[in-house]
Amino acid sequence: MQVTEPLRPRSRKVKILATLGPASSKPEMIRKLMFAGADAFRINMSHGDQKSKAKLVEAIRALEKELKRPTTIVFDLQGPKLRVGSFEGGSAQLEKGRKVILDQEDAPGNAHRMELPHPELFAAIGPGDRLLIDDGKVRLKVLESGETSIKAEVMVGGTVSNSKGVNVPDVVVPIPALTEKDRSDLEFALEQGADWIALSFVQRPEDVAEARSLIGEKAALMAKIEKPAAIDRLNDIIALADGVMVARGDLGVELPPEDVPPLQNRIVACARQFGKPVVVATQMLESMITSPTPTRAEVSDVATAIYDGADAVMLSAESAAGKYPIEAVSMMDSIANSVERDPVYSSRIHFTETRLEPTIADALSGSSRQIANTVNAKAMVVFSKSGSTARRIARERPPVPILAMSPSQTTSRRMGLYWGVHSVHSRDVSAFEEMVGKAKRMVLRHHLAAGGDRIVIMAGIPFGTAGSTNVLHVVRLVGDELERHTTPE
Ligand code: PGA
Ligand code: MN
Repeated sequence: MQVTEPLRPRSRKVKILATLGPASSKPEMIRKLMFAGADAFRINMSHGDQKSKAKLVEAIRALEKELKRPTTIVFDLQGPKLRVGSFEGGSAQLEKGRKVILDQEDAPGNAHRMELPHPELFAAIGPGDRLLIDDGKVRLKVLESGETSIKAEVMVGGTVSNSKGVNVPDVVVPIPALTEKDRSDLEFALEQGADWIALSFVQRPEDVAEARSLIGEKAALMAKIEKPAAIDRLNDIIALADGVMVARGDLGVELPPEDVPPLQNRIVACARQFGKPVVVATQMLESMITSPTPTRAEVSDVATAIYDGADAVMLSAESAAGKYPIEAVSMMDSIANSVERDPVYSSRIHFTETRLEPTIADALSGSSRQIANTVNAKAMVVFSKSGSTARRIARERPPVPILAMSPSQTTSRRMGLYWGVHSVHSRDVSAFEEMVGKAKRMVLRHHLAAGGDRIVIMAGIPFGTAGSTNVLHVVRLVGDELERHTTPE
Protein backbone atom coordinates (compact mmCIF):
# COMPACT_ATOMS: atom_id res chain seq x y z
CA MET A 1 0.00 0.00 0.00
CA GLN A 2 1.25 3.45 -0.88
CA VAL A 3 2.01 5.56 2.18
CA THR A 4 0.65 9.02 1.57
CA GLU A 5 2.77 11.96 2.61
CA PRO A 6 0.56 14.50 4.31
CA LEU A 7 -0.07 17.67 2.35
CA ARG A 8 0.22 20.34 5.03
CA PRO A 9 -1.88 23.51 4.97
CA ARG A 10 -0.09 26.26 3.10
CA SER A 11 1.86 28.76 5.14
CA ARG A 12 0.72 31.50 2.74
CA LYS A 13 -2.66 33.14 2.17
CA VAL A 14 -2.62 33.80 -1.56
CA LYS A 15 -3.58 30.84 -3.75
CA ILE A 16 -1.80 29.44 -6.77
CA LEU A 17 -3.90 28.53 -9.80
CA ALA A 18 -1.89 26.40 -12.25
CA THR A 19 -3.01 25.73 -15.81
CA LEU A 20 -2.68 22.11 -16.90
CA GLY A 21 -1.61 21.15 -20.40
CA PRO A 22 0.75 18.86 -22.31
CA ALA A 23 3.60 19.54 -19.86
CA SER A 24 1.46 18.67 -16.85
CA SER A 25 -1.12 16.08 -17.85
CA LYS A 26 0.27 13.00 -16.07
CA PRO A 27 -1.17 12.22 -12.62
CA GLU A 28 2.34 12.06 -11.16
CA MET A 29 3.10 15.55 -12.46
CA ILE A 30 -0.18 16.98 -11.13
CA ARG A 31 0.69 15.44 -7.76
CA LYS A 32 4.10 17.13 -7.83
CA LEU A 33 2.48 20.45 -8.68
CA MET A 34 0.17 20.10 -5.67
CA PHE A 35 3.10 19.40 -3.37
CA ALA A 36 5.00 22.31 -4.90
CA GLY A 37 2.08 24.59 -4.02
CA ALA A 38 -0.72 24.47 -6.61
CA ASP A 39 -4.08 24.92 -4.85
CA ALA A 40 -6.29 24.98 -7.91
CA PHE A 41 -6.04 23.85 -11.52
CA ARG A 42 -7.20 25.54 -14.70
CA ILE A 43 -8.30 23.49 -17.66
CA ASN A 44 -8.10 25.64 -20.77
CA MET A 45 -10.71 24.74 -23.39
CA SER A 46 -8.83 26.79 -26.05
CA HIS A 47 -6.54 23.79 -26.58
CA GLY A 48 -6.99 20.03 -26.78
CA ASP A 49 -10.08 17.86 -26.89
CA GLN A 50 -12.70 17.00 -24.30
CA LYS A 51 -11.39 13.46 -23.85
CA SER A 52 -7.98 14.63 -22.69
CA LYS A 53 -9.67 17.11 -20.30
CA ALA A 54 -11.73 14.32 -18.75
CA LYS A 55 -8.47 12.50 -17.97
CA LEU A 56 -7.16 15.59 -16.14
CA VAL A 57 -10.31 15.79 -14.03
CA GLU A 58 -10.03 12.09 -13.21
CA ALA A 59 -6.42 12.53 -12.09
CA ILE A 60 -7.18 15.61 -9.95
CA ARG A 61 -10.15 13.94 -8.25
CA ALA A 62 -8.08 10.82 -7.50
CA LEU A 63 -5.38 12.98 -5.88
CA GLU A 64 -7.98 14.96 -3.99
CA LYS A 65 -9.28 11.75 -2.51
CA GLU A 66 -5.84 10.41 -1.71
CA LEU A 67 -4.60 13.63 -0.12
CA LYS A 68 -7.95 14.52 1.49
CA ARG A 69 -7.61 18.07 0.20
CA PRO A 70 -10.55 19.71 -1.59
CA THR A 71 -9.10 20.79 -4.94
CA THR A 72 -10.53 23.48 -7.17
CA ILE A 73 -10.98 22.90 -10.90
CA VAL A 74 -11.51 25.95 -13.11
CA PHE A 75 -12.74 25.26 -16.66
CA ASP A 76 -11.83 28.20 -18.88
CA LEU A 77 -14.06 28.60 -21.97
CA GLN A 78 -12.35 29.85 -25.11
CA GLY A 79 -14.94 32.44 -26.11
CA PRO A 80 -15.28 33.84 -29.61
CA LYS A 81 -12.04 34.47 -31.45
CA LEU A 82 -12.19 36.79 -34.45
CA ARG A 83 -9.83 35.66 -37.16
CA VAL A 84 -8.80 36.65 -40.67
CA GLY A 85 -9.21 34.13 -43.51
CA SER A 86 -6.45 32.43 -45.49
CA PHE A 87 -3.83 33.93 -47.83
CA GLU A 88 -2.29 33.05 -51.18
CA GLY A 89 0.84 31.11 -50.18
CA GLY A 90 -0.18 31.17 -46.51
CA SER A 91 0.65 34.79 -45.71
CA ALA A 92 0.78 38.37 -46.93
CA GLN A 93 3.07 41.29 -46.24
CA LEU A 94 1.10 44.42 -45.27
CA GLU A 95 2.97 47.67 -45.77
CA LYS A 96 2.57 50.73 -43.62
CA GLY A 97 0.50 53.46 -45.27
CA ARG A 98 -1.15 51.10 -47.80
CA LYS A 99 -4.92 50.61 -48.03
CA VAL A 100 -6.47 47.17 -47.60
CA ILE A 101 -9.96 45.80 -48.08
CA LEU A 102 -11.50 43.31 -45.68
CA ASP A 103 -14.54 41.44 -46.97
CA GLN A 104 -16.56 38.28 -46.46
CA GLU A 105 -15.52 36.43 -49.64
CA ASP A 106 -14.17 32.97 -49.07
CA ALA A 107 -11.11 33.50 -51.30
CA PRO A 108 -7.41 33.57 -50.32
CA GLY A 109 -6.20 37.08 -49.47
CA ASN A 110 -3.12 39.09 -50.46
CA ALA A 111 -1.44 42.40 -49.61
CA HIS A 112 -4.51 44.36 -50.80
CA ARG A 113 -7.48 42.35 -49.60
CA MET A 114 -8.31 39.68 -47.08
CA GLU A 115 -11.27 37.79 -45.76
CA LEU A 116 -12.76 38.70 -42.39
CA PRO A 117 -15.39 35.98 -41.92
CA HIS A 118 -17.48 37.76 -39.24
CA PRO A 119 -20.53 39.47 -40.82
CA GLU A 120 -21.66 40.88 -37.40
CA LEU A 121 -18.55 43.01 -37.26
CA PHE A 122 -19.15 44.96 -40.48
CA ALA A 123 -22.18 46.81 -39.16
CA ALA A 124 -20.61 47.54 -35.77
CA ILE A 125 -17.25 48.93 -36.88
CA GLY A 126 -16.78 52.47 -38.17
CA PRO A 127 -14.16 54.96 -39.39
CA GLY A 128 -11.32 55.50 -36.91
CA ASP A 129 -11.78 52.11 -35.21
CA ARG A 130 -8.72 49.87 -34.97
CA LEU A 131 -8.28 46.30 -36.18
CA LEU A 132 -5.38 44.58 -34.41
CA ILE A 133 -4.07 41.44 -36.07
CA ASP A 134 -1.92 38.73 -34.47
CA ASP A 135 -1.87 40.11 -30.89
CA GLY A 136 -1.50 43.64 -32.23
CA LYS A 137 1.63 42.99 -34.27
CA VAL A 138 -0.11 44.38 -37.35
CA ARG A 139 -2.48 47.34 -36.89
CA LEU A 140 -5.11 48.72 -39.24
CA LYS A 141 -7.34 51.78 -38.96
CA VAL A 142 -10.78 51.71 -40.56
CA LEU A 143 -11.37 54.40 -43.21
CA GLU A 144 -14.80 53.30 -44.48
CA SER A 145 -17.09 50.47 -43.54
CA GLY A 146 -20.12 48.96 -45.25
CA GLU A 147 -22.25 45.87 -44.87
CA THR A 148 -19.92 43.68 -46.92
CA SER A 149 -16.55 45.41 -46.93
CA ILE A 150 -14.23 47.49 -44.82
CA LYS A 151 -11.54 49.77 -46.19
CA ALA A 152 -8.61 50.27 -43.83
CA GLU A 153 -5.17 51.83 -43.71
CA VAL A 154 -2.14 49.91 -42.46
CA MET A 155 -0.80 51.83 -39.44
CA VAL A 156 1.77 49.23 -38.40
CA GLY A 157 2.85 46.81 -41.12
CA GLY A 158 4.05 43.23 -41.00
CA THR A 159 3.30 39.69 -42.09
CA VAL A 160 -0.19 38.30 -41.61
CA SER A 161 -0.65 34.57 -42.02
CA ASN A 162 -3.68 32.27 -42.25
CA SER A 163 -6.33 32.51 -39.51
CA LYS A 164 -4.49 35.01 -37.31
CA GLY A 165 -6.57 36.48 -34.50
CA VAL A 166 -8.14 39.93 -34.76
CA ASN A 167 -8.91 42.27 -31.85
CA VAL A 168 -11.27 45.22 -32.22
CA PRO A 169 -10.79 47.20 -29.01
CA ASP A 170 -12.92 50.20 -30.04
CA VAL A 171 -16.10 48.26 -30.70
CA VAL A 172 -18.59 46.41 -28.51
CA VAL A 173 -18.70 43.37 -30.76
CA PRO A 174 -22.33 42.32 -31.25
CA ILE A 175 -21.65 38.66 -30.59
CA PRO A 176 -22.38 36.74 -27.38
CA ALA A 177 -19.54 35.61 -25.12
CA LEU A 178 -20.55 31.98 -25.70
CA THR A 179 -20.03 30.34 -29.09
CA GLU A 180 -21.43 26.94 -30.10
CA LYS A 181 -18.12 25.40 -29.05
CA ASP A 182 -18.31 27.18 -25.69
CA ARG A 183 -21.83 25.86 -25.11
CA SER A 184 -20.72 22.32 -25.81
CA ASP A 185 -17.58 22.79 -23.65
CA LEU A 186 -19.71 24.27 -20.86
CA GLU A 187 -22.06 21.31 -20.88
CA PHE A 188 -19.05 19.02 -20.78
CA ALA A 189 -17.39 20.99 -17.96
CA LEU A 190 -20.53 20.81 -15.83
CA GLU A 191 -20.82 17.08 -16.47
CA GLN A 192 -17.23 16.77 -15.32
CA GLY A 193 -18.05 18.56 -12.08
CA ALA A 194 -16.26 21.87 -12.76
CA ASP A 195 -16.07 24.01 -9.61
CA TRP A 196 -15.59 27.27 -11.47
CA ILE A 197 -16.33 28.28 -15.06
CA ALA A 198 -14.17 31.11 -16.42
CA LEU A 199 -15.91 33.11 -19.10
CA SER A 200 -13.77 34.76 -21.80
CA PHE A 201 -14.61 37.82 -23.90
CA VAL A 202 -17.01 39.35 -21.37
CA GLN A 203 -18.09 42.74 -22.69
CA ARG A 204 -21.38 43.40 -20.90
CA PRO A 205 -23.14 42.32 -17.70
CA GLU A 206 -25.60 40.50 -20.00
CA ASP A 207 -22.79 38.14 -21.03
CA VAL A 208 -22.35 37.09 -17.41
CA ALA A 209 -26.12 36.80 -16.93
CA GLU A 210 -26.41 34.58 -19.98
CA ALA A 211 -23.68 32.23 -18.79
CA ARG A 212 -25.29 32.18 -15.36
CA SER A 213 -28.62 31.12 -16.83
CA LEU A 214 -26.88 28.12 -18.40
CA ILE A 215 -24.75 27.25 -15.36
CA GLY A 216 -27.31 27.85 -12.62
CA GLU A 217 -25.86 26.86 -9.26
CA LYS A 218 -23.84 23.99 -10.69
CA ALA A 219 -20.56 25.93 -10.68
CA ALA A 220 -19.22 29.31 -9.65
CA LEU A 221 -18.73 31.82 -12.45
CA MET A 222 -15.53 33.79 -13.03
CA ALA A 223 -15.67 36.74 -15.42
CA LYS A 224 -12.41 37.25 -17.30
CA ILE A 225 -11.75 40.95 -17.67
CA GLU A 226 -9.94 41.22 -20.98
CA LYS A 227 -11.96 43.71 -23.05
CA PRO A 228 -12.02 47.50 -22.72
CA ALA A 229 -15.83 47.37 -22.94
CA ALA A 230 -15.86 45.31 -19.74
CA ILE A 231 -13.84 47.98 -17.93
CA ASP A 232 -16.61 50.49 -18.62
CA ARG A 233 -19.11 48.18 -16.91
CA LEU A 234 -16.79 46.71 -14.28
CA ASN A 235 -19.05 47.16 -11.24
CA ASP A 236 -22.09 45.64 -12.92
CA ILE A 237 -20.04 42.71 -14.23
CA ILE A 238 -18.44 41.95 -10.86
CA ALA A 239 -21.81 42.27 -9.15
CA LEU A 240 -23.17 39.45 -11.32
CA ALA A 241 -20.11 37.17 -11.23
CA ASP A 242 -18.78 35.04 -8.34
CA GLY A 243 -15.20 36.03 -9.06
CA VAL A 244 -13.00 37.77 -11.63
CA MET A 245 -9.78 37.23 -13.51
CA VAL A 246 -7.49 40.03 -14.57
CA ALA A 247 -6.75 38.48 -17.99
CA ARG A 248 -3.73 40.59 -18.81
CA GLY A 249 -2.92 38.81 -22.08
CA ASP A 250 -5.85 40.04 -24.12
CA LEU A 251 -6.16 43.18 -22.04
CA GLY A 252 -2.62 44.15 -23.08
CA VAL A 253 -3.45 43.63 -26.75
CA GLU A 254 -6.68 45.58 -26.68
CA LEU A 255 -5.14 48.42 -24.66
CA PRO A 256 -1.65 49.89 -24.55
CA PRO A 257 0.40 47.68 -22.21
CA GLU A 258 1.08 50.61 -19.90
CA ASP A 259 -2.65 50.82 -19.18
CA VAL A 260 -2.68 47.30 -17.75
CA PRO A 261 -1.01 47.93 -14.33
CA PRO A 262 -3.44 50.67 -13.24
CA LEU A 263 -6.32 48.51 -14.49
CA GLN A 264 -5.03 45.50 -12.59
CA ASN A 265 -5.01 47.67 -9.51
CA ARG A 266 -8.53 48.89 -10.13
CA ILE A 267 -10.00 45.47 -10.92
CA VAL A 268 -8.40 43.91 -7.83
CA ALA A 269 -9.69 46.75 -5.62
CA CYS A 270 -13.16 46.55 -7.13
CA ALA A 271 -13.41 42.77 -6.69
CA ARG A 272 -12.22 43.13 -3.11
CA GLN A 273 -14.86 45.74 -2.42
CA PHE A 274 -17.46 43.23 -3.52
CA GLY A 275 -15.71 40.54 -1.47
CA LYS A 276 -15.32 38.33 -4.54
CA PRO A 277 -12.16 36.38 -5.31
CA VAL A 278 -9.84 37.89 -7.91
CA VAL A 279 -7.16 36.07 -9.88
CA VAL A 280 -4.23 37.91 -11.51
CA ALA A 281 -3.27 36.05 -14.68
CA THR A 282 -0.96 35.81 -17.67
CA GLN A 283 2.78 36.12 -18.23
CA MET A 284 3.49 36.18 -14.50
CA LEU A 285 6.62 34.03 -14.85
CA GLU A 286 6.65 33.92 -18.66
CA SER A 287 10.40 33.38 -19.07
CA MET A 288 10.09 30.17 -17.01
CA ILE A 289 8.47 28.53 -20.03
CA THR A 290 12.03 27.99 -21.22
CA SER A 291 14.23 28.90 -18.26
CA PRO A 292 14.47 27.34 -14.78
CA THR A 293 14.70 30.79 -13.19
CA PRO A 294 12.51 33.87 -13.71
CA THR A 295 13.58 37.42 -14.40
CA ARG A 296 13.71 39.83 -11.46
CA ALA A 297 10.93 41.83 -13.10
CA GLU A 298 8.65 38.78 -13.17
CA VAL A 299 9.33 38.11 -9.50
CA SER A 300 8.37 41.71 -8.76
CA ASP A 301 5.22 41.37 -10.84
CA VAL A 302 4.03 38.34 -8.84
CA ALA A 303 4.93 40.16 -5.61
CA THR A 304 2.95 43.24 -6.67
CA ALA A 305 -0.20 41.20 -7.27
CA ILE A 306 0.19 39.66 -3.81
CA TYR A 307 0.81 43.05 -2.15
CA ASP A 308 -2.35 44.29 -3.92
CA GLY A 309 -4.25 41.59 -2.04
CA ALA A 310 -5.23 39.35 -4.96
CA ASP A 311 -6.82 36.06 -3.91
CA ALA A 312 -4.82 34.03 -6.40
CA VAL A 313 -2.00 34.28 -8.90
CA MET A 314 -2.09 32.17 -12.04
CA LEU A 315 0.35 30.27 -14.21
CA SER A 316 -0.54 29.74 -17.87
CA ALA A 317 1.94 28.27 -20.35
CA GLU A 318 4.55 28.16 -17.56
CA SER A 319 2.78 25.16 -16.02
CA ALA A 320 0.80 23.96 -19.07
CA ALA A 321 3.38 23.84 -21.82
CA GLY A 322 6.70 24.98 -20.40
CA LYS A 323 9.85 23.08 -19.53
CA TYR A 324 9.70 23.91 -15.81
CA PRO A 325 6.15 23.56 -14.43
CA ILE A 326 7.24 22.47 -10.94
CA GLU A 327 9.89 25.16 -10.67
CA ALA A 328 7.33 27.78 -11.72
CA VAL A 329 4.87 26.71 -9.00
CA SER A 330 7.66 26.55 -6.39
CA MET A 331 8.85 29.97 -7.43
CA MET A 332 5.39 31.45 -6.96
CA ASP A 333 5.14 29.72 -3.60
CA SER A 334 8.49 31.18 -2.50
CA ILE A 335 7.57 34.68 -3.67
CA ALA A 336 4.25 34.47 -1.81
CA ASN A 337 5.93 33.32 1.39
CA SER A 338 8.49 36.08 1.16
CA VAL A 339 5.90 38.83 0.57
CA GLU A 340 3.63 37.53 3.31
CA ARG A 341 6.51 37.41 5.81
CA ASP A 342 7.05 41.11 5.20
CA PRO A 343 5.58 42.85 8.28
CA VAL A 344 4.21 45.54 5.98
CA TYR A 345 2.08 43.03 4.03
CA SER A 346 -0.69 42.59 6.57
CA SER A 347 -1.36 46.30 7.00
CA ARG A 348 -0.95 46.96 3.29
CA ILE A 349 -3.67 44.53 2.26
CA HIS A 350 -6.03 45.56 5.03
CA PHE A 351 -8.86 47.16 3.20
CA THR A 352 -11.14 49.75 4.63
CA GLU A 353 -13.50 50.14 1.71
CA THR A 354 -15.50 46.98 2.26
CA ARG A 355 -19.20 47.54 1.78
CA LEU A 356 -20.95 45.79 4.63
CA GLU A 357 -24.55 44.74 4.25
CA PRO A 358 -26.85 45.23 7.23
CA THR A 359 -26.89 41.53 8.12
CA ILE A 360 -25.68 39.67 11.21
CA ALA A 361 -23.36 37.57 9.02
CA ASP A 362 -21.71 40.69 7.59
CA ALA A 363 -21.51 42.42 10.97
CA LEU A 364 -19.76 39.41 12.51
CA SER A 365 -17.43 38.66 9.62
CA GLY A 366 -16.66 42.38 9.27
CA SER A 367 -15.47 42.50 12.89
CA SER A 368 -13.84 39.07 12.98
CA ARG A 369 -10.43 40.38 11.93
CA GLN A 370 -10.45 42.97 14.67
CA ILE A 371 -11.55 40.43 17.28
CA ALA A 372 -8.86 37.95 16.23
CA ASN A 373 -6.26 40.71 16.50
CA THR A 374 -7.49 41.98 19.85
CA VAL A 375 -7.43 38.59 21.55
CA ASN A 376 -4.34 37.51 19.63
CA ALA A 377 -6.10 34.47 18.17
CA LYS A 378 -3.98 32.10 16.10
CA ALA A 379 -6.71 30.86 13.76
CA MET A 380 -10.33 31.32 12.78
CA VAL A 381 -12.68 28.44 12.23
CA VAL A 382 -15.87 28.88 10.25
CA PHE A 383 -18.66 26.40 9.70
CA SER A 384 -19.93 27.51 6.33
CA LYS A 385 -22.45 25.55 4.31
CA SER A 386 -22.55 27.78 1.25
CA GLY A 387 -19.05 29.25 1.74
CA SER A 388 -20.39 32.78 1.90
CA THR A 389 -19.25 33.44 5.48
CA ALA A 390 -15.78 32.10 4.67
CA ARG A 391 -15.70 34.48 1.71
CA ARG A 392 -16.77 37.40 3.89
CA ILE A 393 -14.09 36.65 6.47
CA ALA A 394 -11.46 36.31 3.74
CA ARG A 395 -12.56 39.71 2.44
CA GLU A 396 -11.26 41.23 5.68
CA ARG A 397 -7.83 39.69 5.03
CA PRO A 398 -7.18 38.64 8.66
CA PRO A 399 -3.57 37.87 9.64
CA VAL A 400 -4.44 34.31 10.80
CA PRO A 401 -5.44 31.18 8.87
CA ILE A 402 -9.15 30.65 8.18
CA LEU A 403 -10.14 27.02 8.51
CA ALA A 404 -13.44 26.70 6.63
CA MET A 405 -15.50 23.56 7.13
CA SER A 406 -18.36 22.69 4.88
CA PRO A 407 -20.49 19.56 4.67
CA SER A 408 -20.92 20.34 0.97
CA GLN A 409 -18.22 18.97 -1.30
CA THR A 410 -19.11 21.58 -3.93
CA THR A 411 -18.59 24.41 -1.44
CA SER A 412 -15.36 23.00 -0.07
CA ARG A 413 -13.93 22.75 -3.58
CA ARG A 414 -15.09 26.22 -4.59
CA MET A 415 -13.44 27.81 -1.55
CA GLY A 416 -10.02 26.72 -2.78
CA LEU A 417 -9.60 30.06 -4.54
CA TYR A 418 -10.45 32.19 -1.50
CA TRP A 419 -7.56 34.11 0.02
CA GLY A 420 -6.34 32.60 3.32
CA VAL A 421 -8.96 29.85 3.46
CA HIS A 422 -7.91 26.32 4.32
CA SER A 423 -10.89 24.32 3.13
CA VAL A 424 -11.98 21.09 4.78
CA HIS A 425 -14.88 18.91 3.69
CA SER A 426 -16.45 17.62 6.85
CA ARG A 427 -19.73 16.45 8.36
CA ASP A 428 -22.02 19.06 9.85
CA VAL A 429 -22.28 19.61 13.59
CA SER A 430 -25.61 19.72 15.37
CA ALA A 431 -24.90 21.20 18.80
CA PHE A 432 -22.90 24.07 20.26
CA GLU A 433 -20.51 21.94 22.35
CA GLU A 434 -19.94 19.65 19.40
CA MET A 435 -19.07 22.69 17.27
CA VAL A 436 -16.52 23.94 19.80
CA GLY A 437 -14.98 20.50 20.22
CA LYS A 438 -14.72 19.95 16.51
CA ALA A 439 -13.23 23.38 15.84
CA LYS A 440 -10.54 22.74 18.43
CA ARG A 441 -9.73 19.27 17.12
CA MET A 442 -9.58 20.44 13.51
CA VAL A 443 -7.17 23.35 14.07
CA LEU A 444 -4.88 21.01 15.97
CA ARG A 445 -5.10 18.28 13.36
CA HIS A 446 -4.32 20.77 10.59
CA HIS A 447 -1.48 22.33 12.62
CA LEU A 448 -3.04 25.79 12.52
CA ALA A 449 -2.82 26.40 16.28
CA ALA A 450 -1.40 24.71 19.38
CA GLY A 451 -2.25 24.15 23.06
CA GLY A 452 -2.70 27.47 24.87
CA ASP A 453 -3.67 29.37 21.70
CA ARG A 454 -6.94 31.17 21.28
CA ILE A 455 -9.13 30.62 18.24
CA VAL A 456 -12.19 32.43 16.89
CA ILE A 457 -15.12 30.21 15.90
CA MET A 458 -18.01 31.33 13.70
CA ALA A 459 -21.16 29.44 12.81
CA GLY A 460 -24.88 29.70 12.29
CA ILE A 461 -27.42 28.47 14.82
CA PRO A 462 -29.63 26.54 14.27
CA PHE A 463 -27.02 24.33 12.64
CA GLY A 464 -27.54 23.00 9.15
CA THR A 465 -29.15 26.07 7.55
CA ALA A 466 -27.21 28.06 4.95
CA GLY A 467 -26.60 31.80 5.25
CA SER A 468 -27.38 32.10 8.95
CA THR A 469 -24.02 32.90 10.56
CA ASN A 470 -24.92 34.52 13.86
CA VAL A 471 -22.40 33.25 16.42
CA LEU A 472 -18.83 34.28 17.08
CA HIS A 473 -17.16 32.44 19.93
CA VAL A 474 -13.60 32.76 21.23
CA VAL A 475 -12.02 29.77 22.96
CA ARG A 476 -8.63 28.71 24.21
CA LEU A 477 -7.12 25.36 23.33
CA VAL A 478 -6.08 23.61 26.51
CA GLY A 479 -3.71 20.72 27.11
CA ASP A 480 -6.15 17.81 27.24
CA GLU A 481 -7.49 18.60 23.76
CA LEU A 482 -4.05 17.80 22.47
CA GLU A 483 -4.59 14.20 23.52
CA ARG A 484 -8.18 14.03 22.37
CA HIS A 485 -7.54 15.46 18.93
CA THR A 486 -6.63 12.08 17.51
CA THR A 487 -10.29 10.97 17.59
CA PRO A 488 -11.27 9.98 14.05
CA GLU A 489 -13.65 12.38 12.33
P1 PGA B 1 -6.53 33.27 -22.30
O1 PGA B 1 -6.96 34.27 -21.13
O2 PGA B 1 -5.22 32.71 -21.94
O3 PGA B 1 -7.62 32.26 -22.31
O4 PGA B 1 -6.54 34.16 -23.52
C1 PGA B 1 -6.06 34.95 -20.34
C2 PGA B 1 -5.67 36.30 -20.90
O5 PGA B 1 -6.18 36.76 -21.93
O6 PGA B 1 -4.84 36.92 -20.22
MN1 MN C 1 -7.78 35.87 -23.02
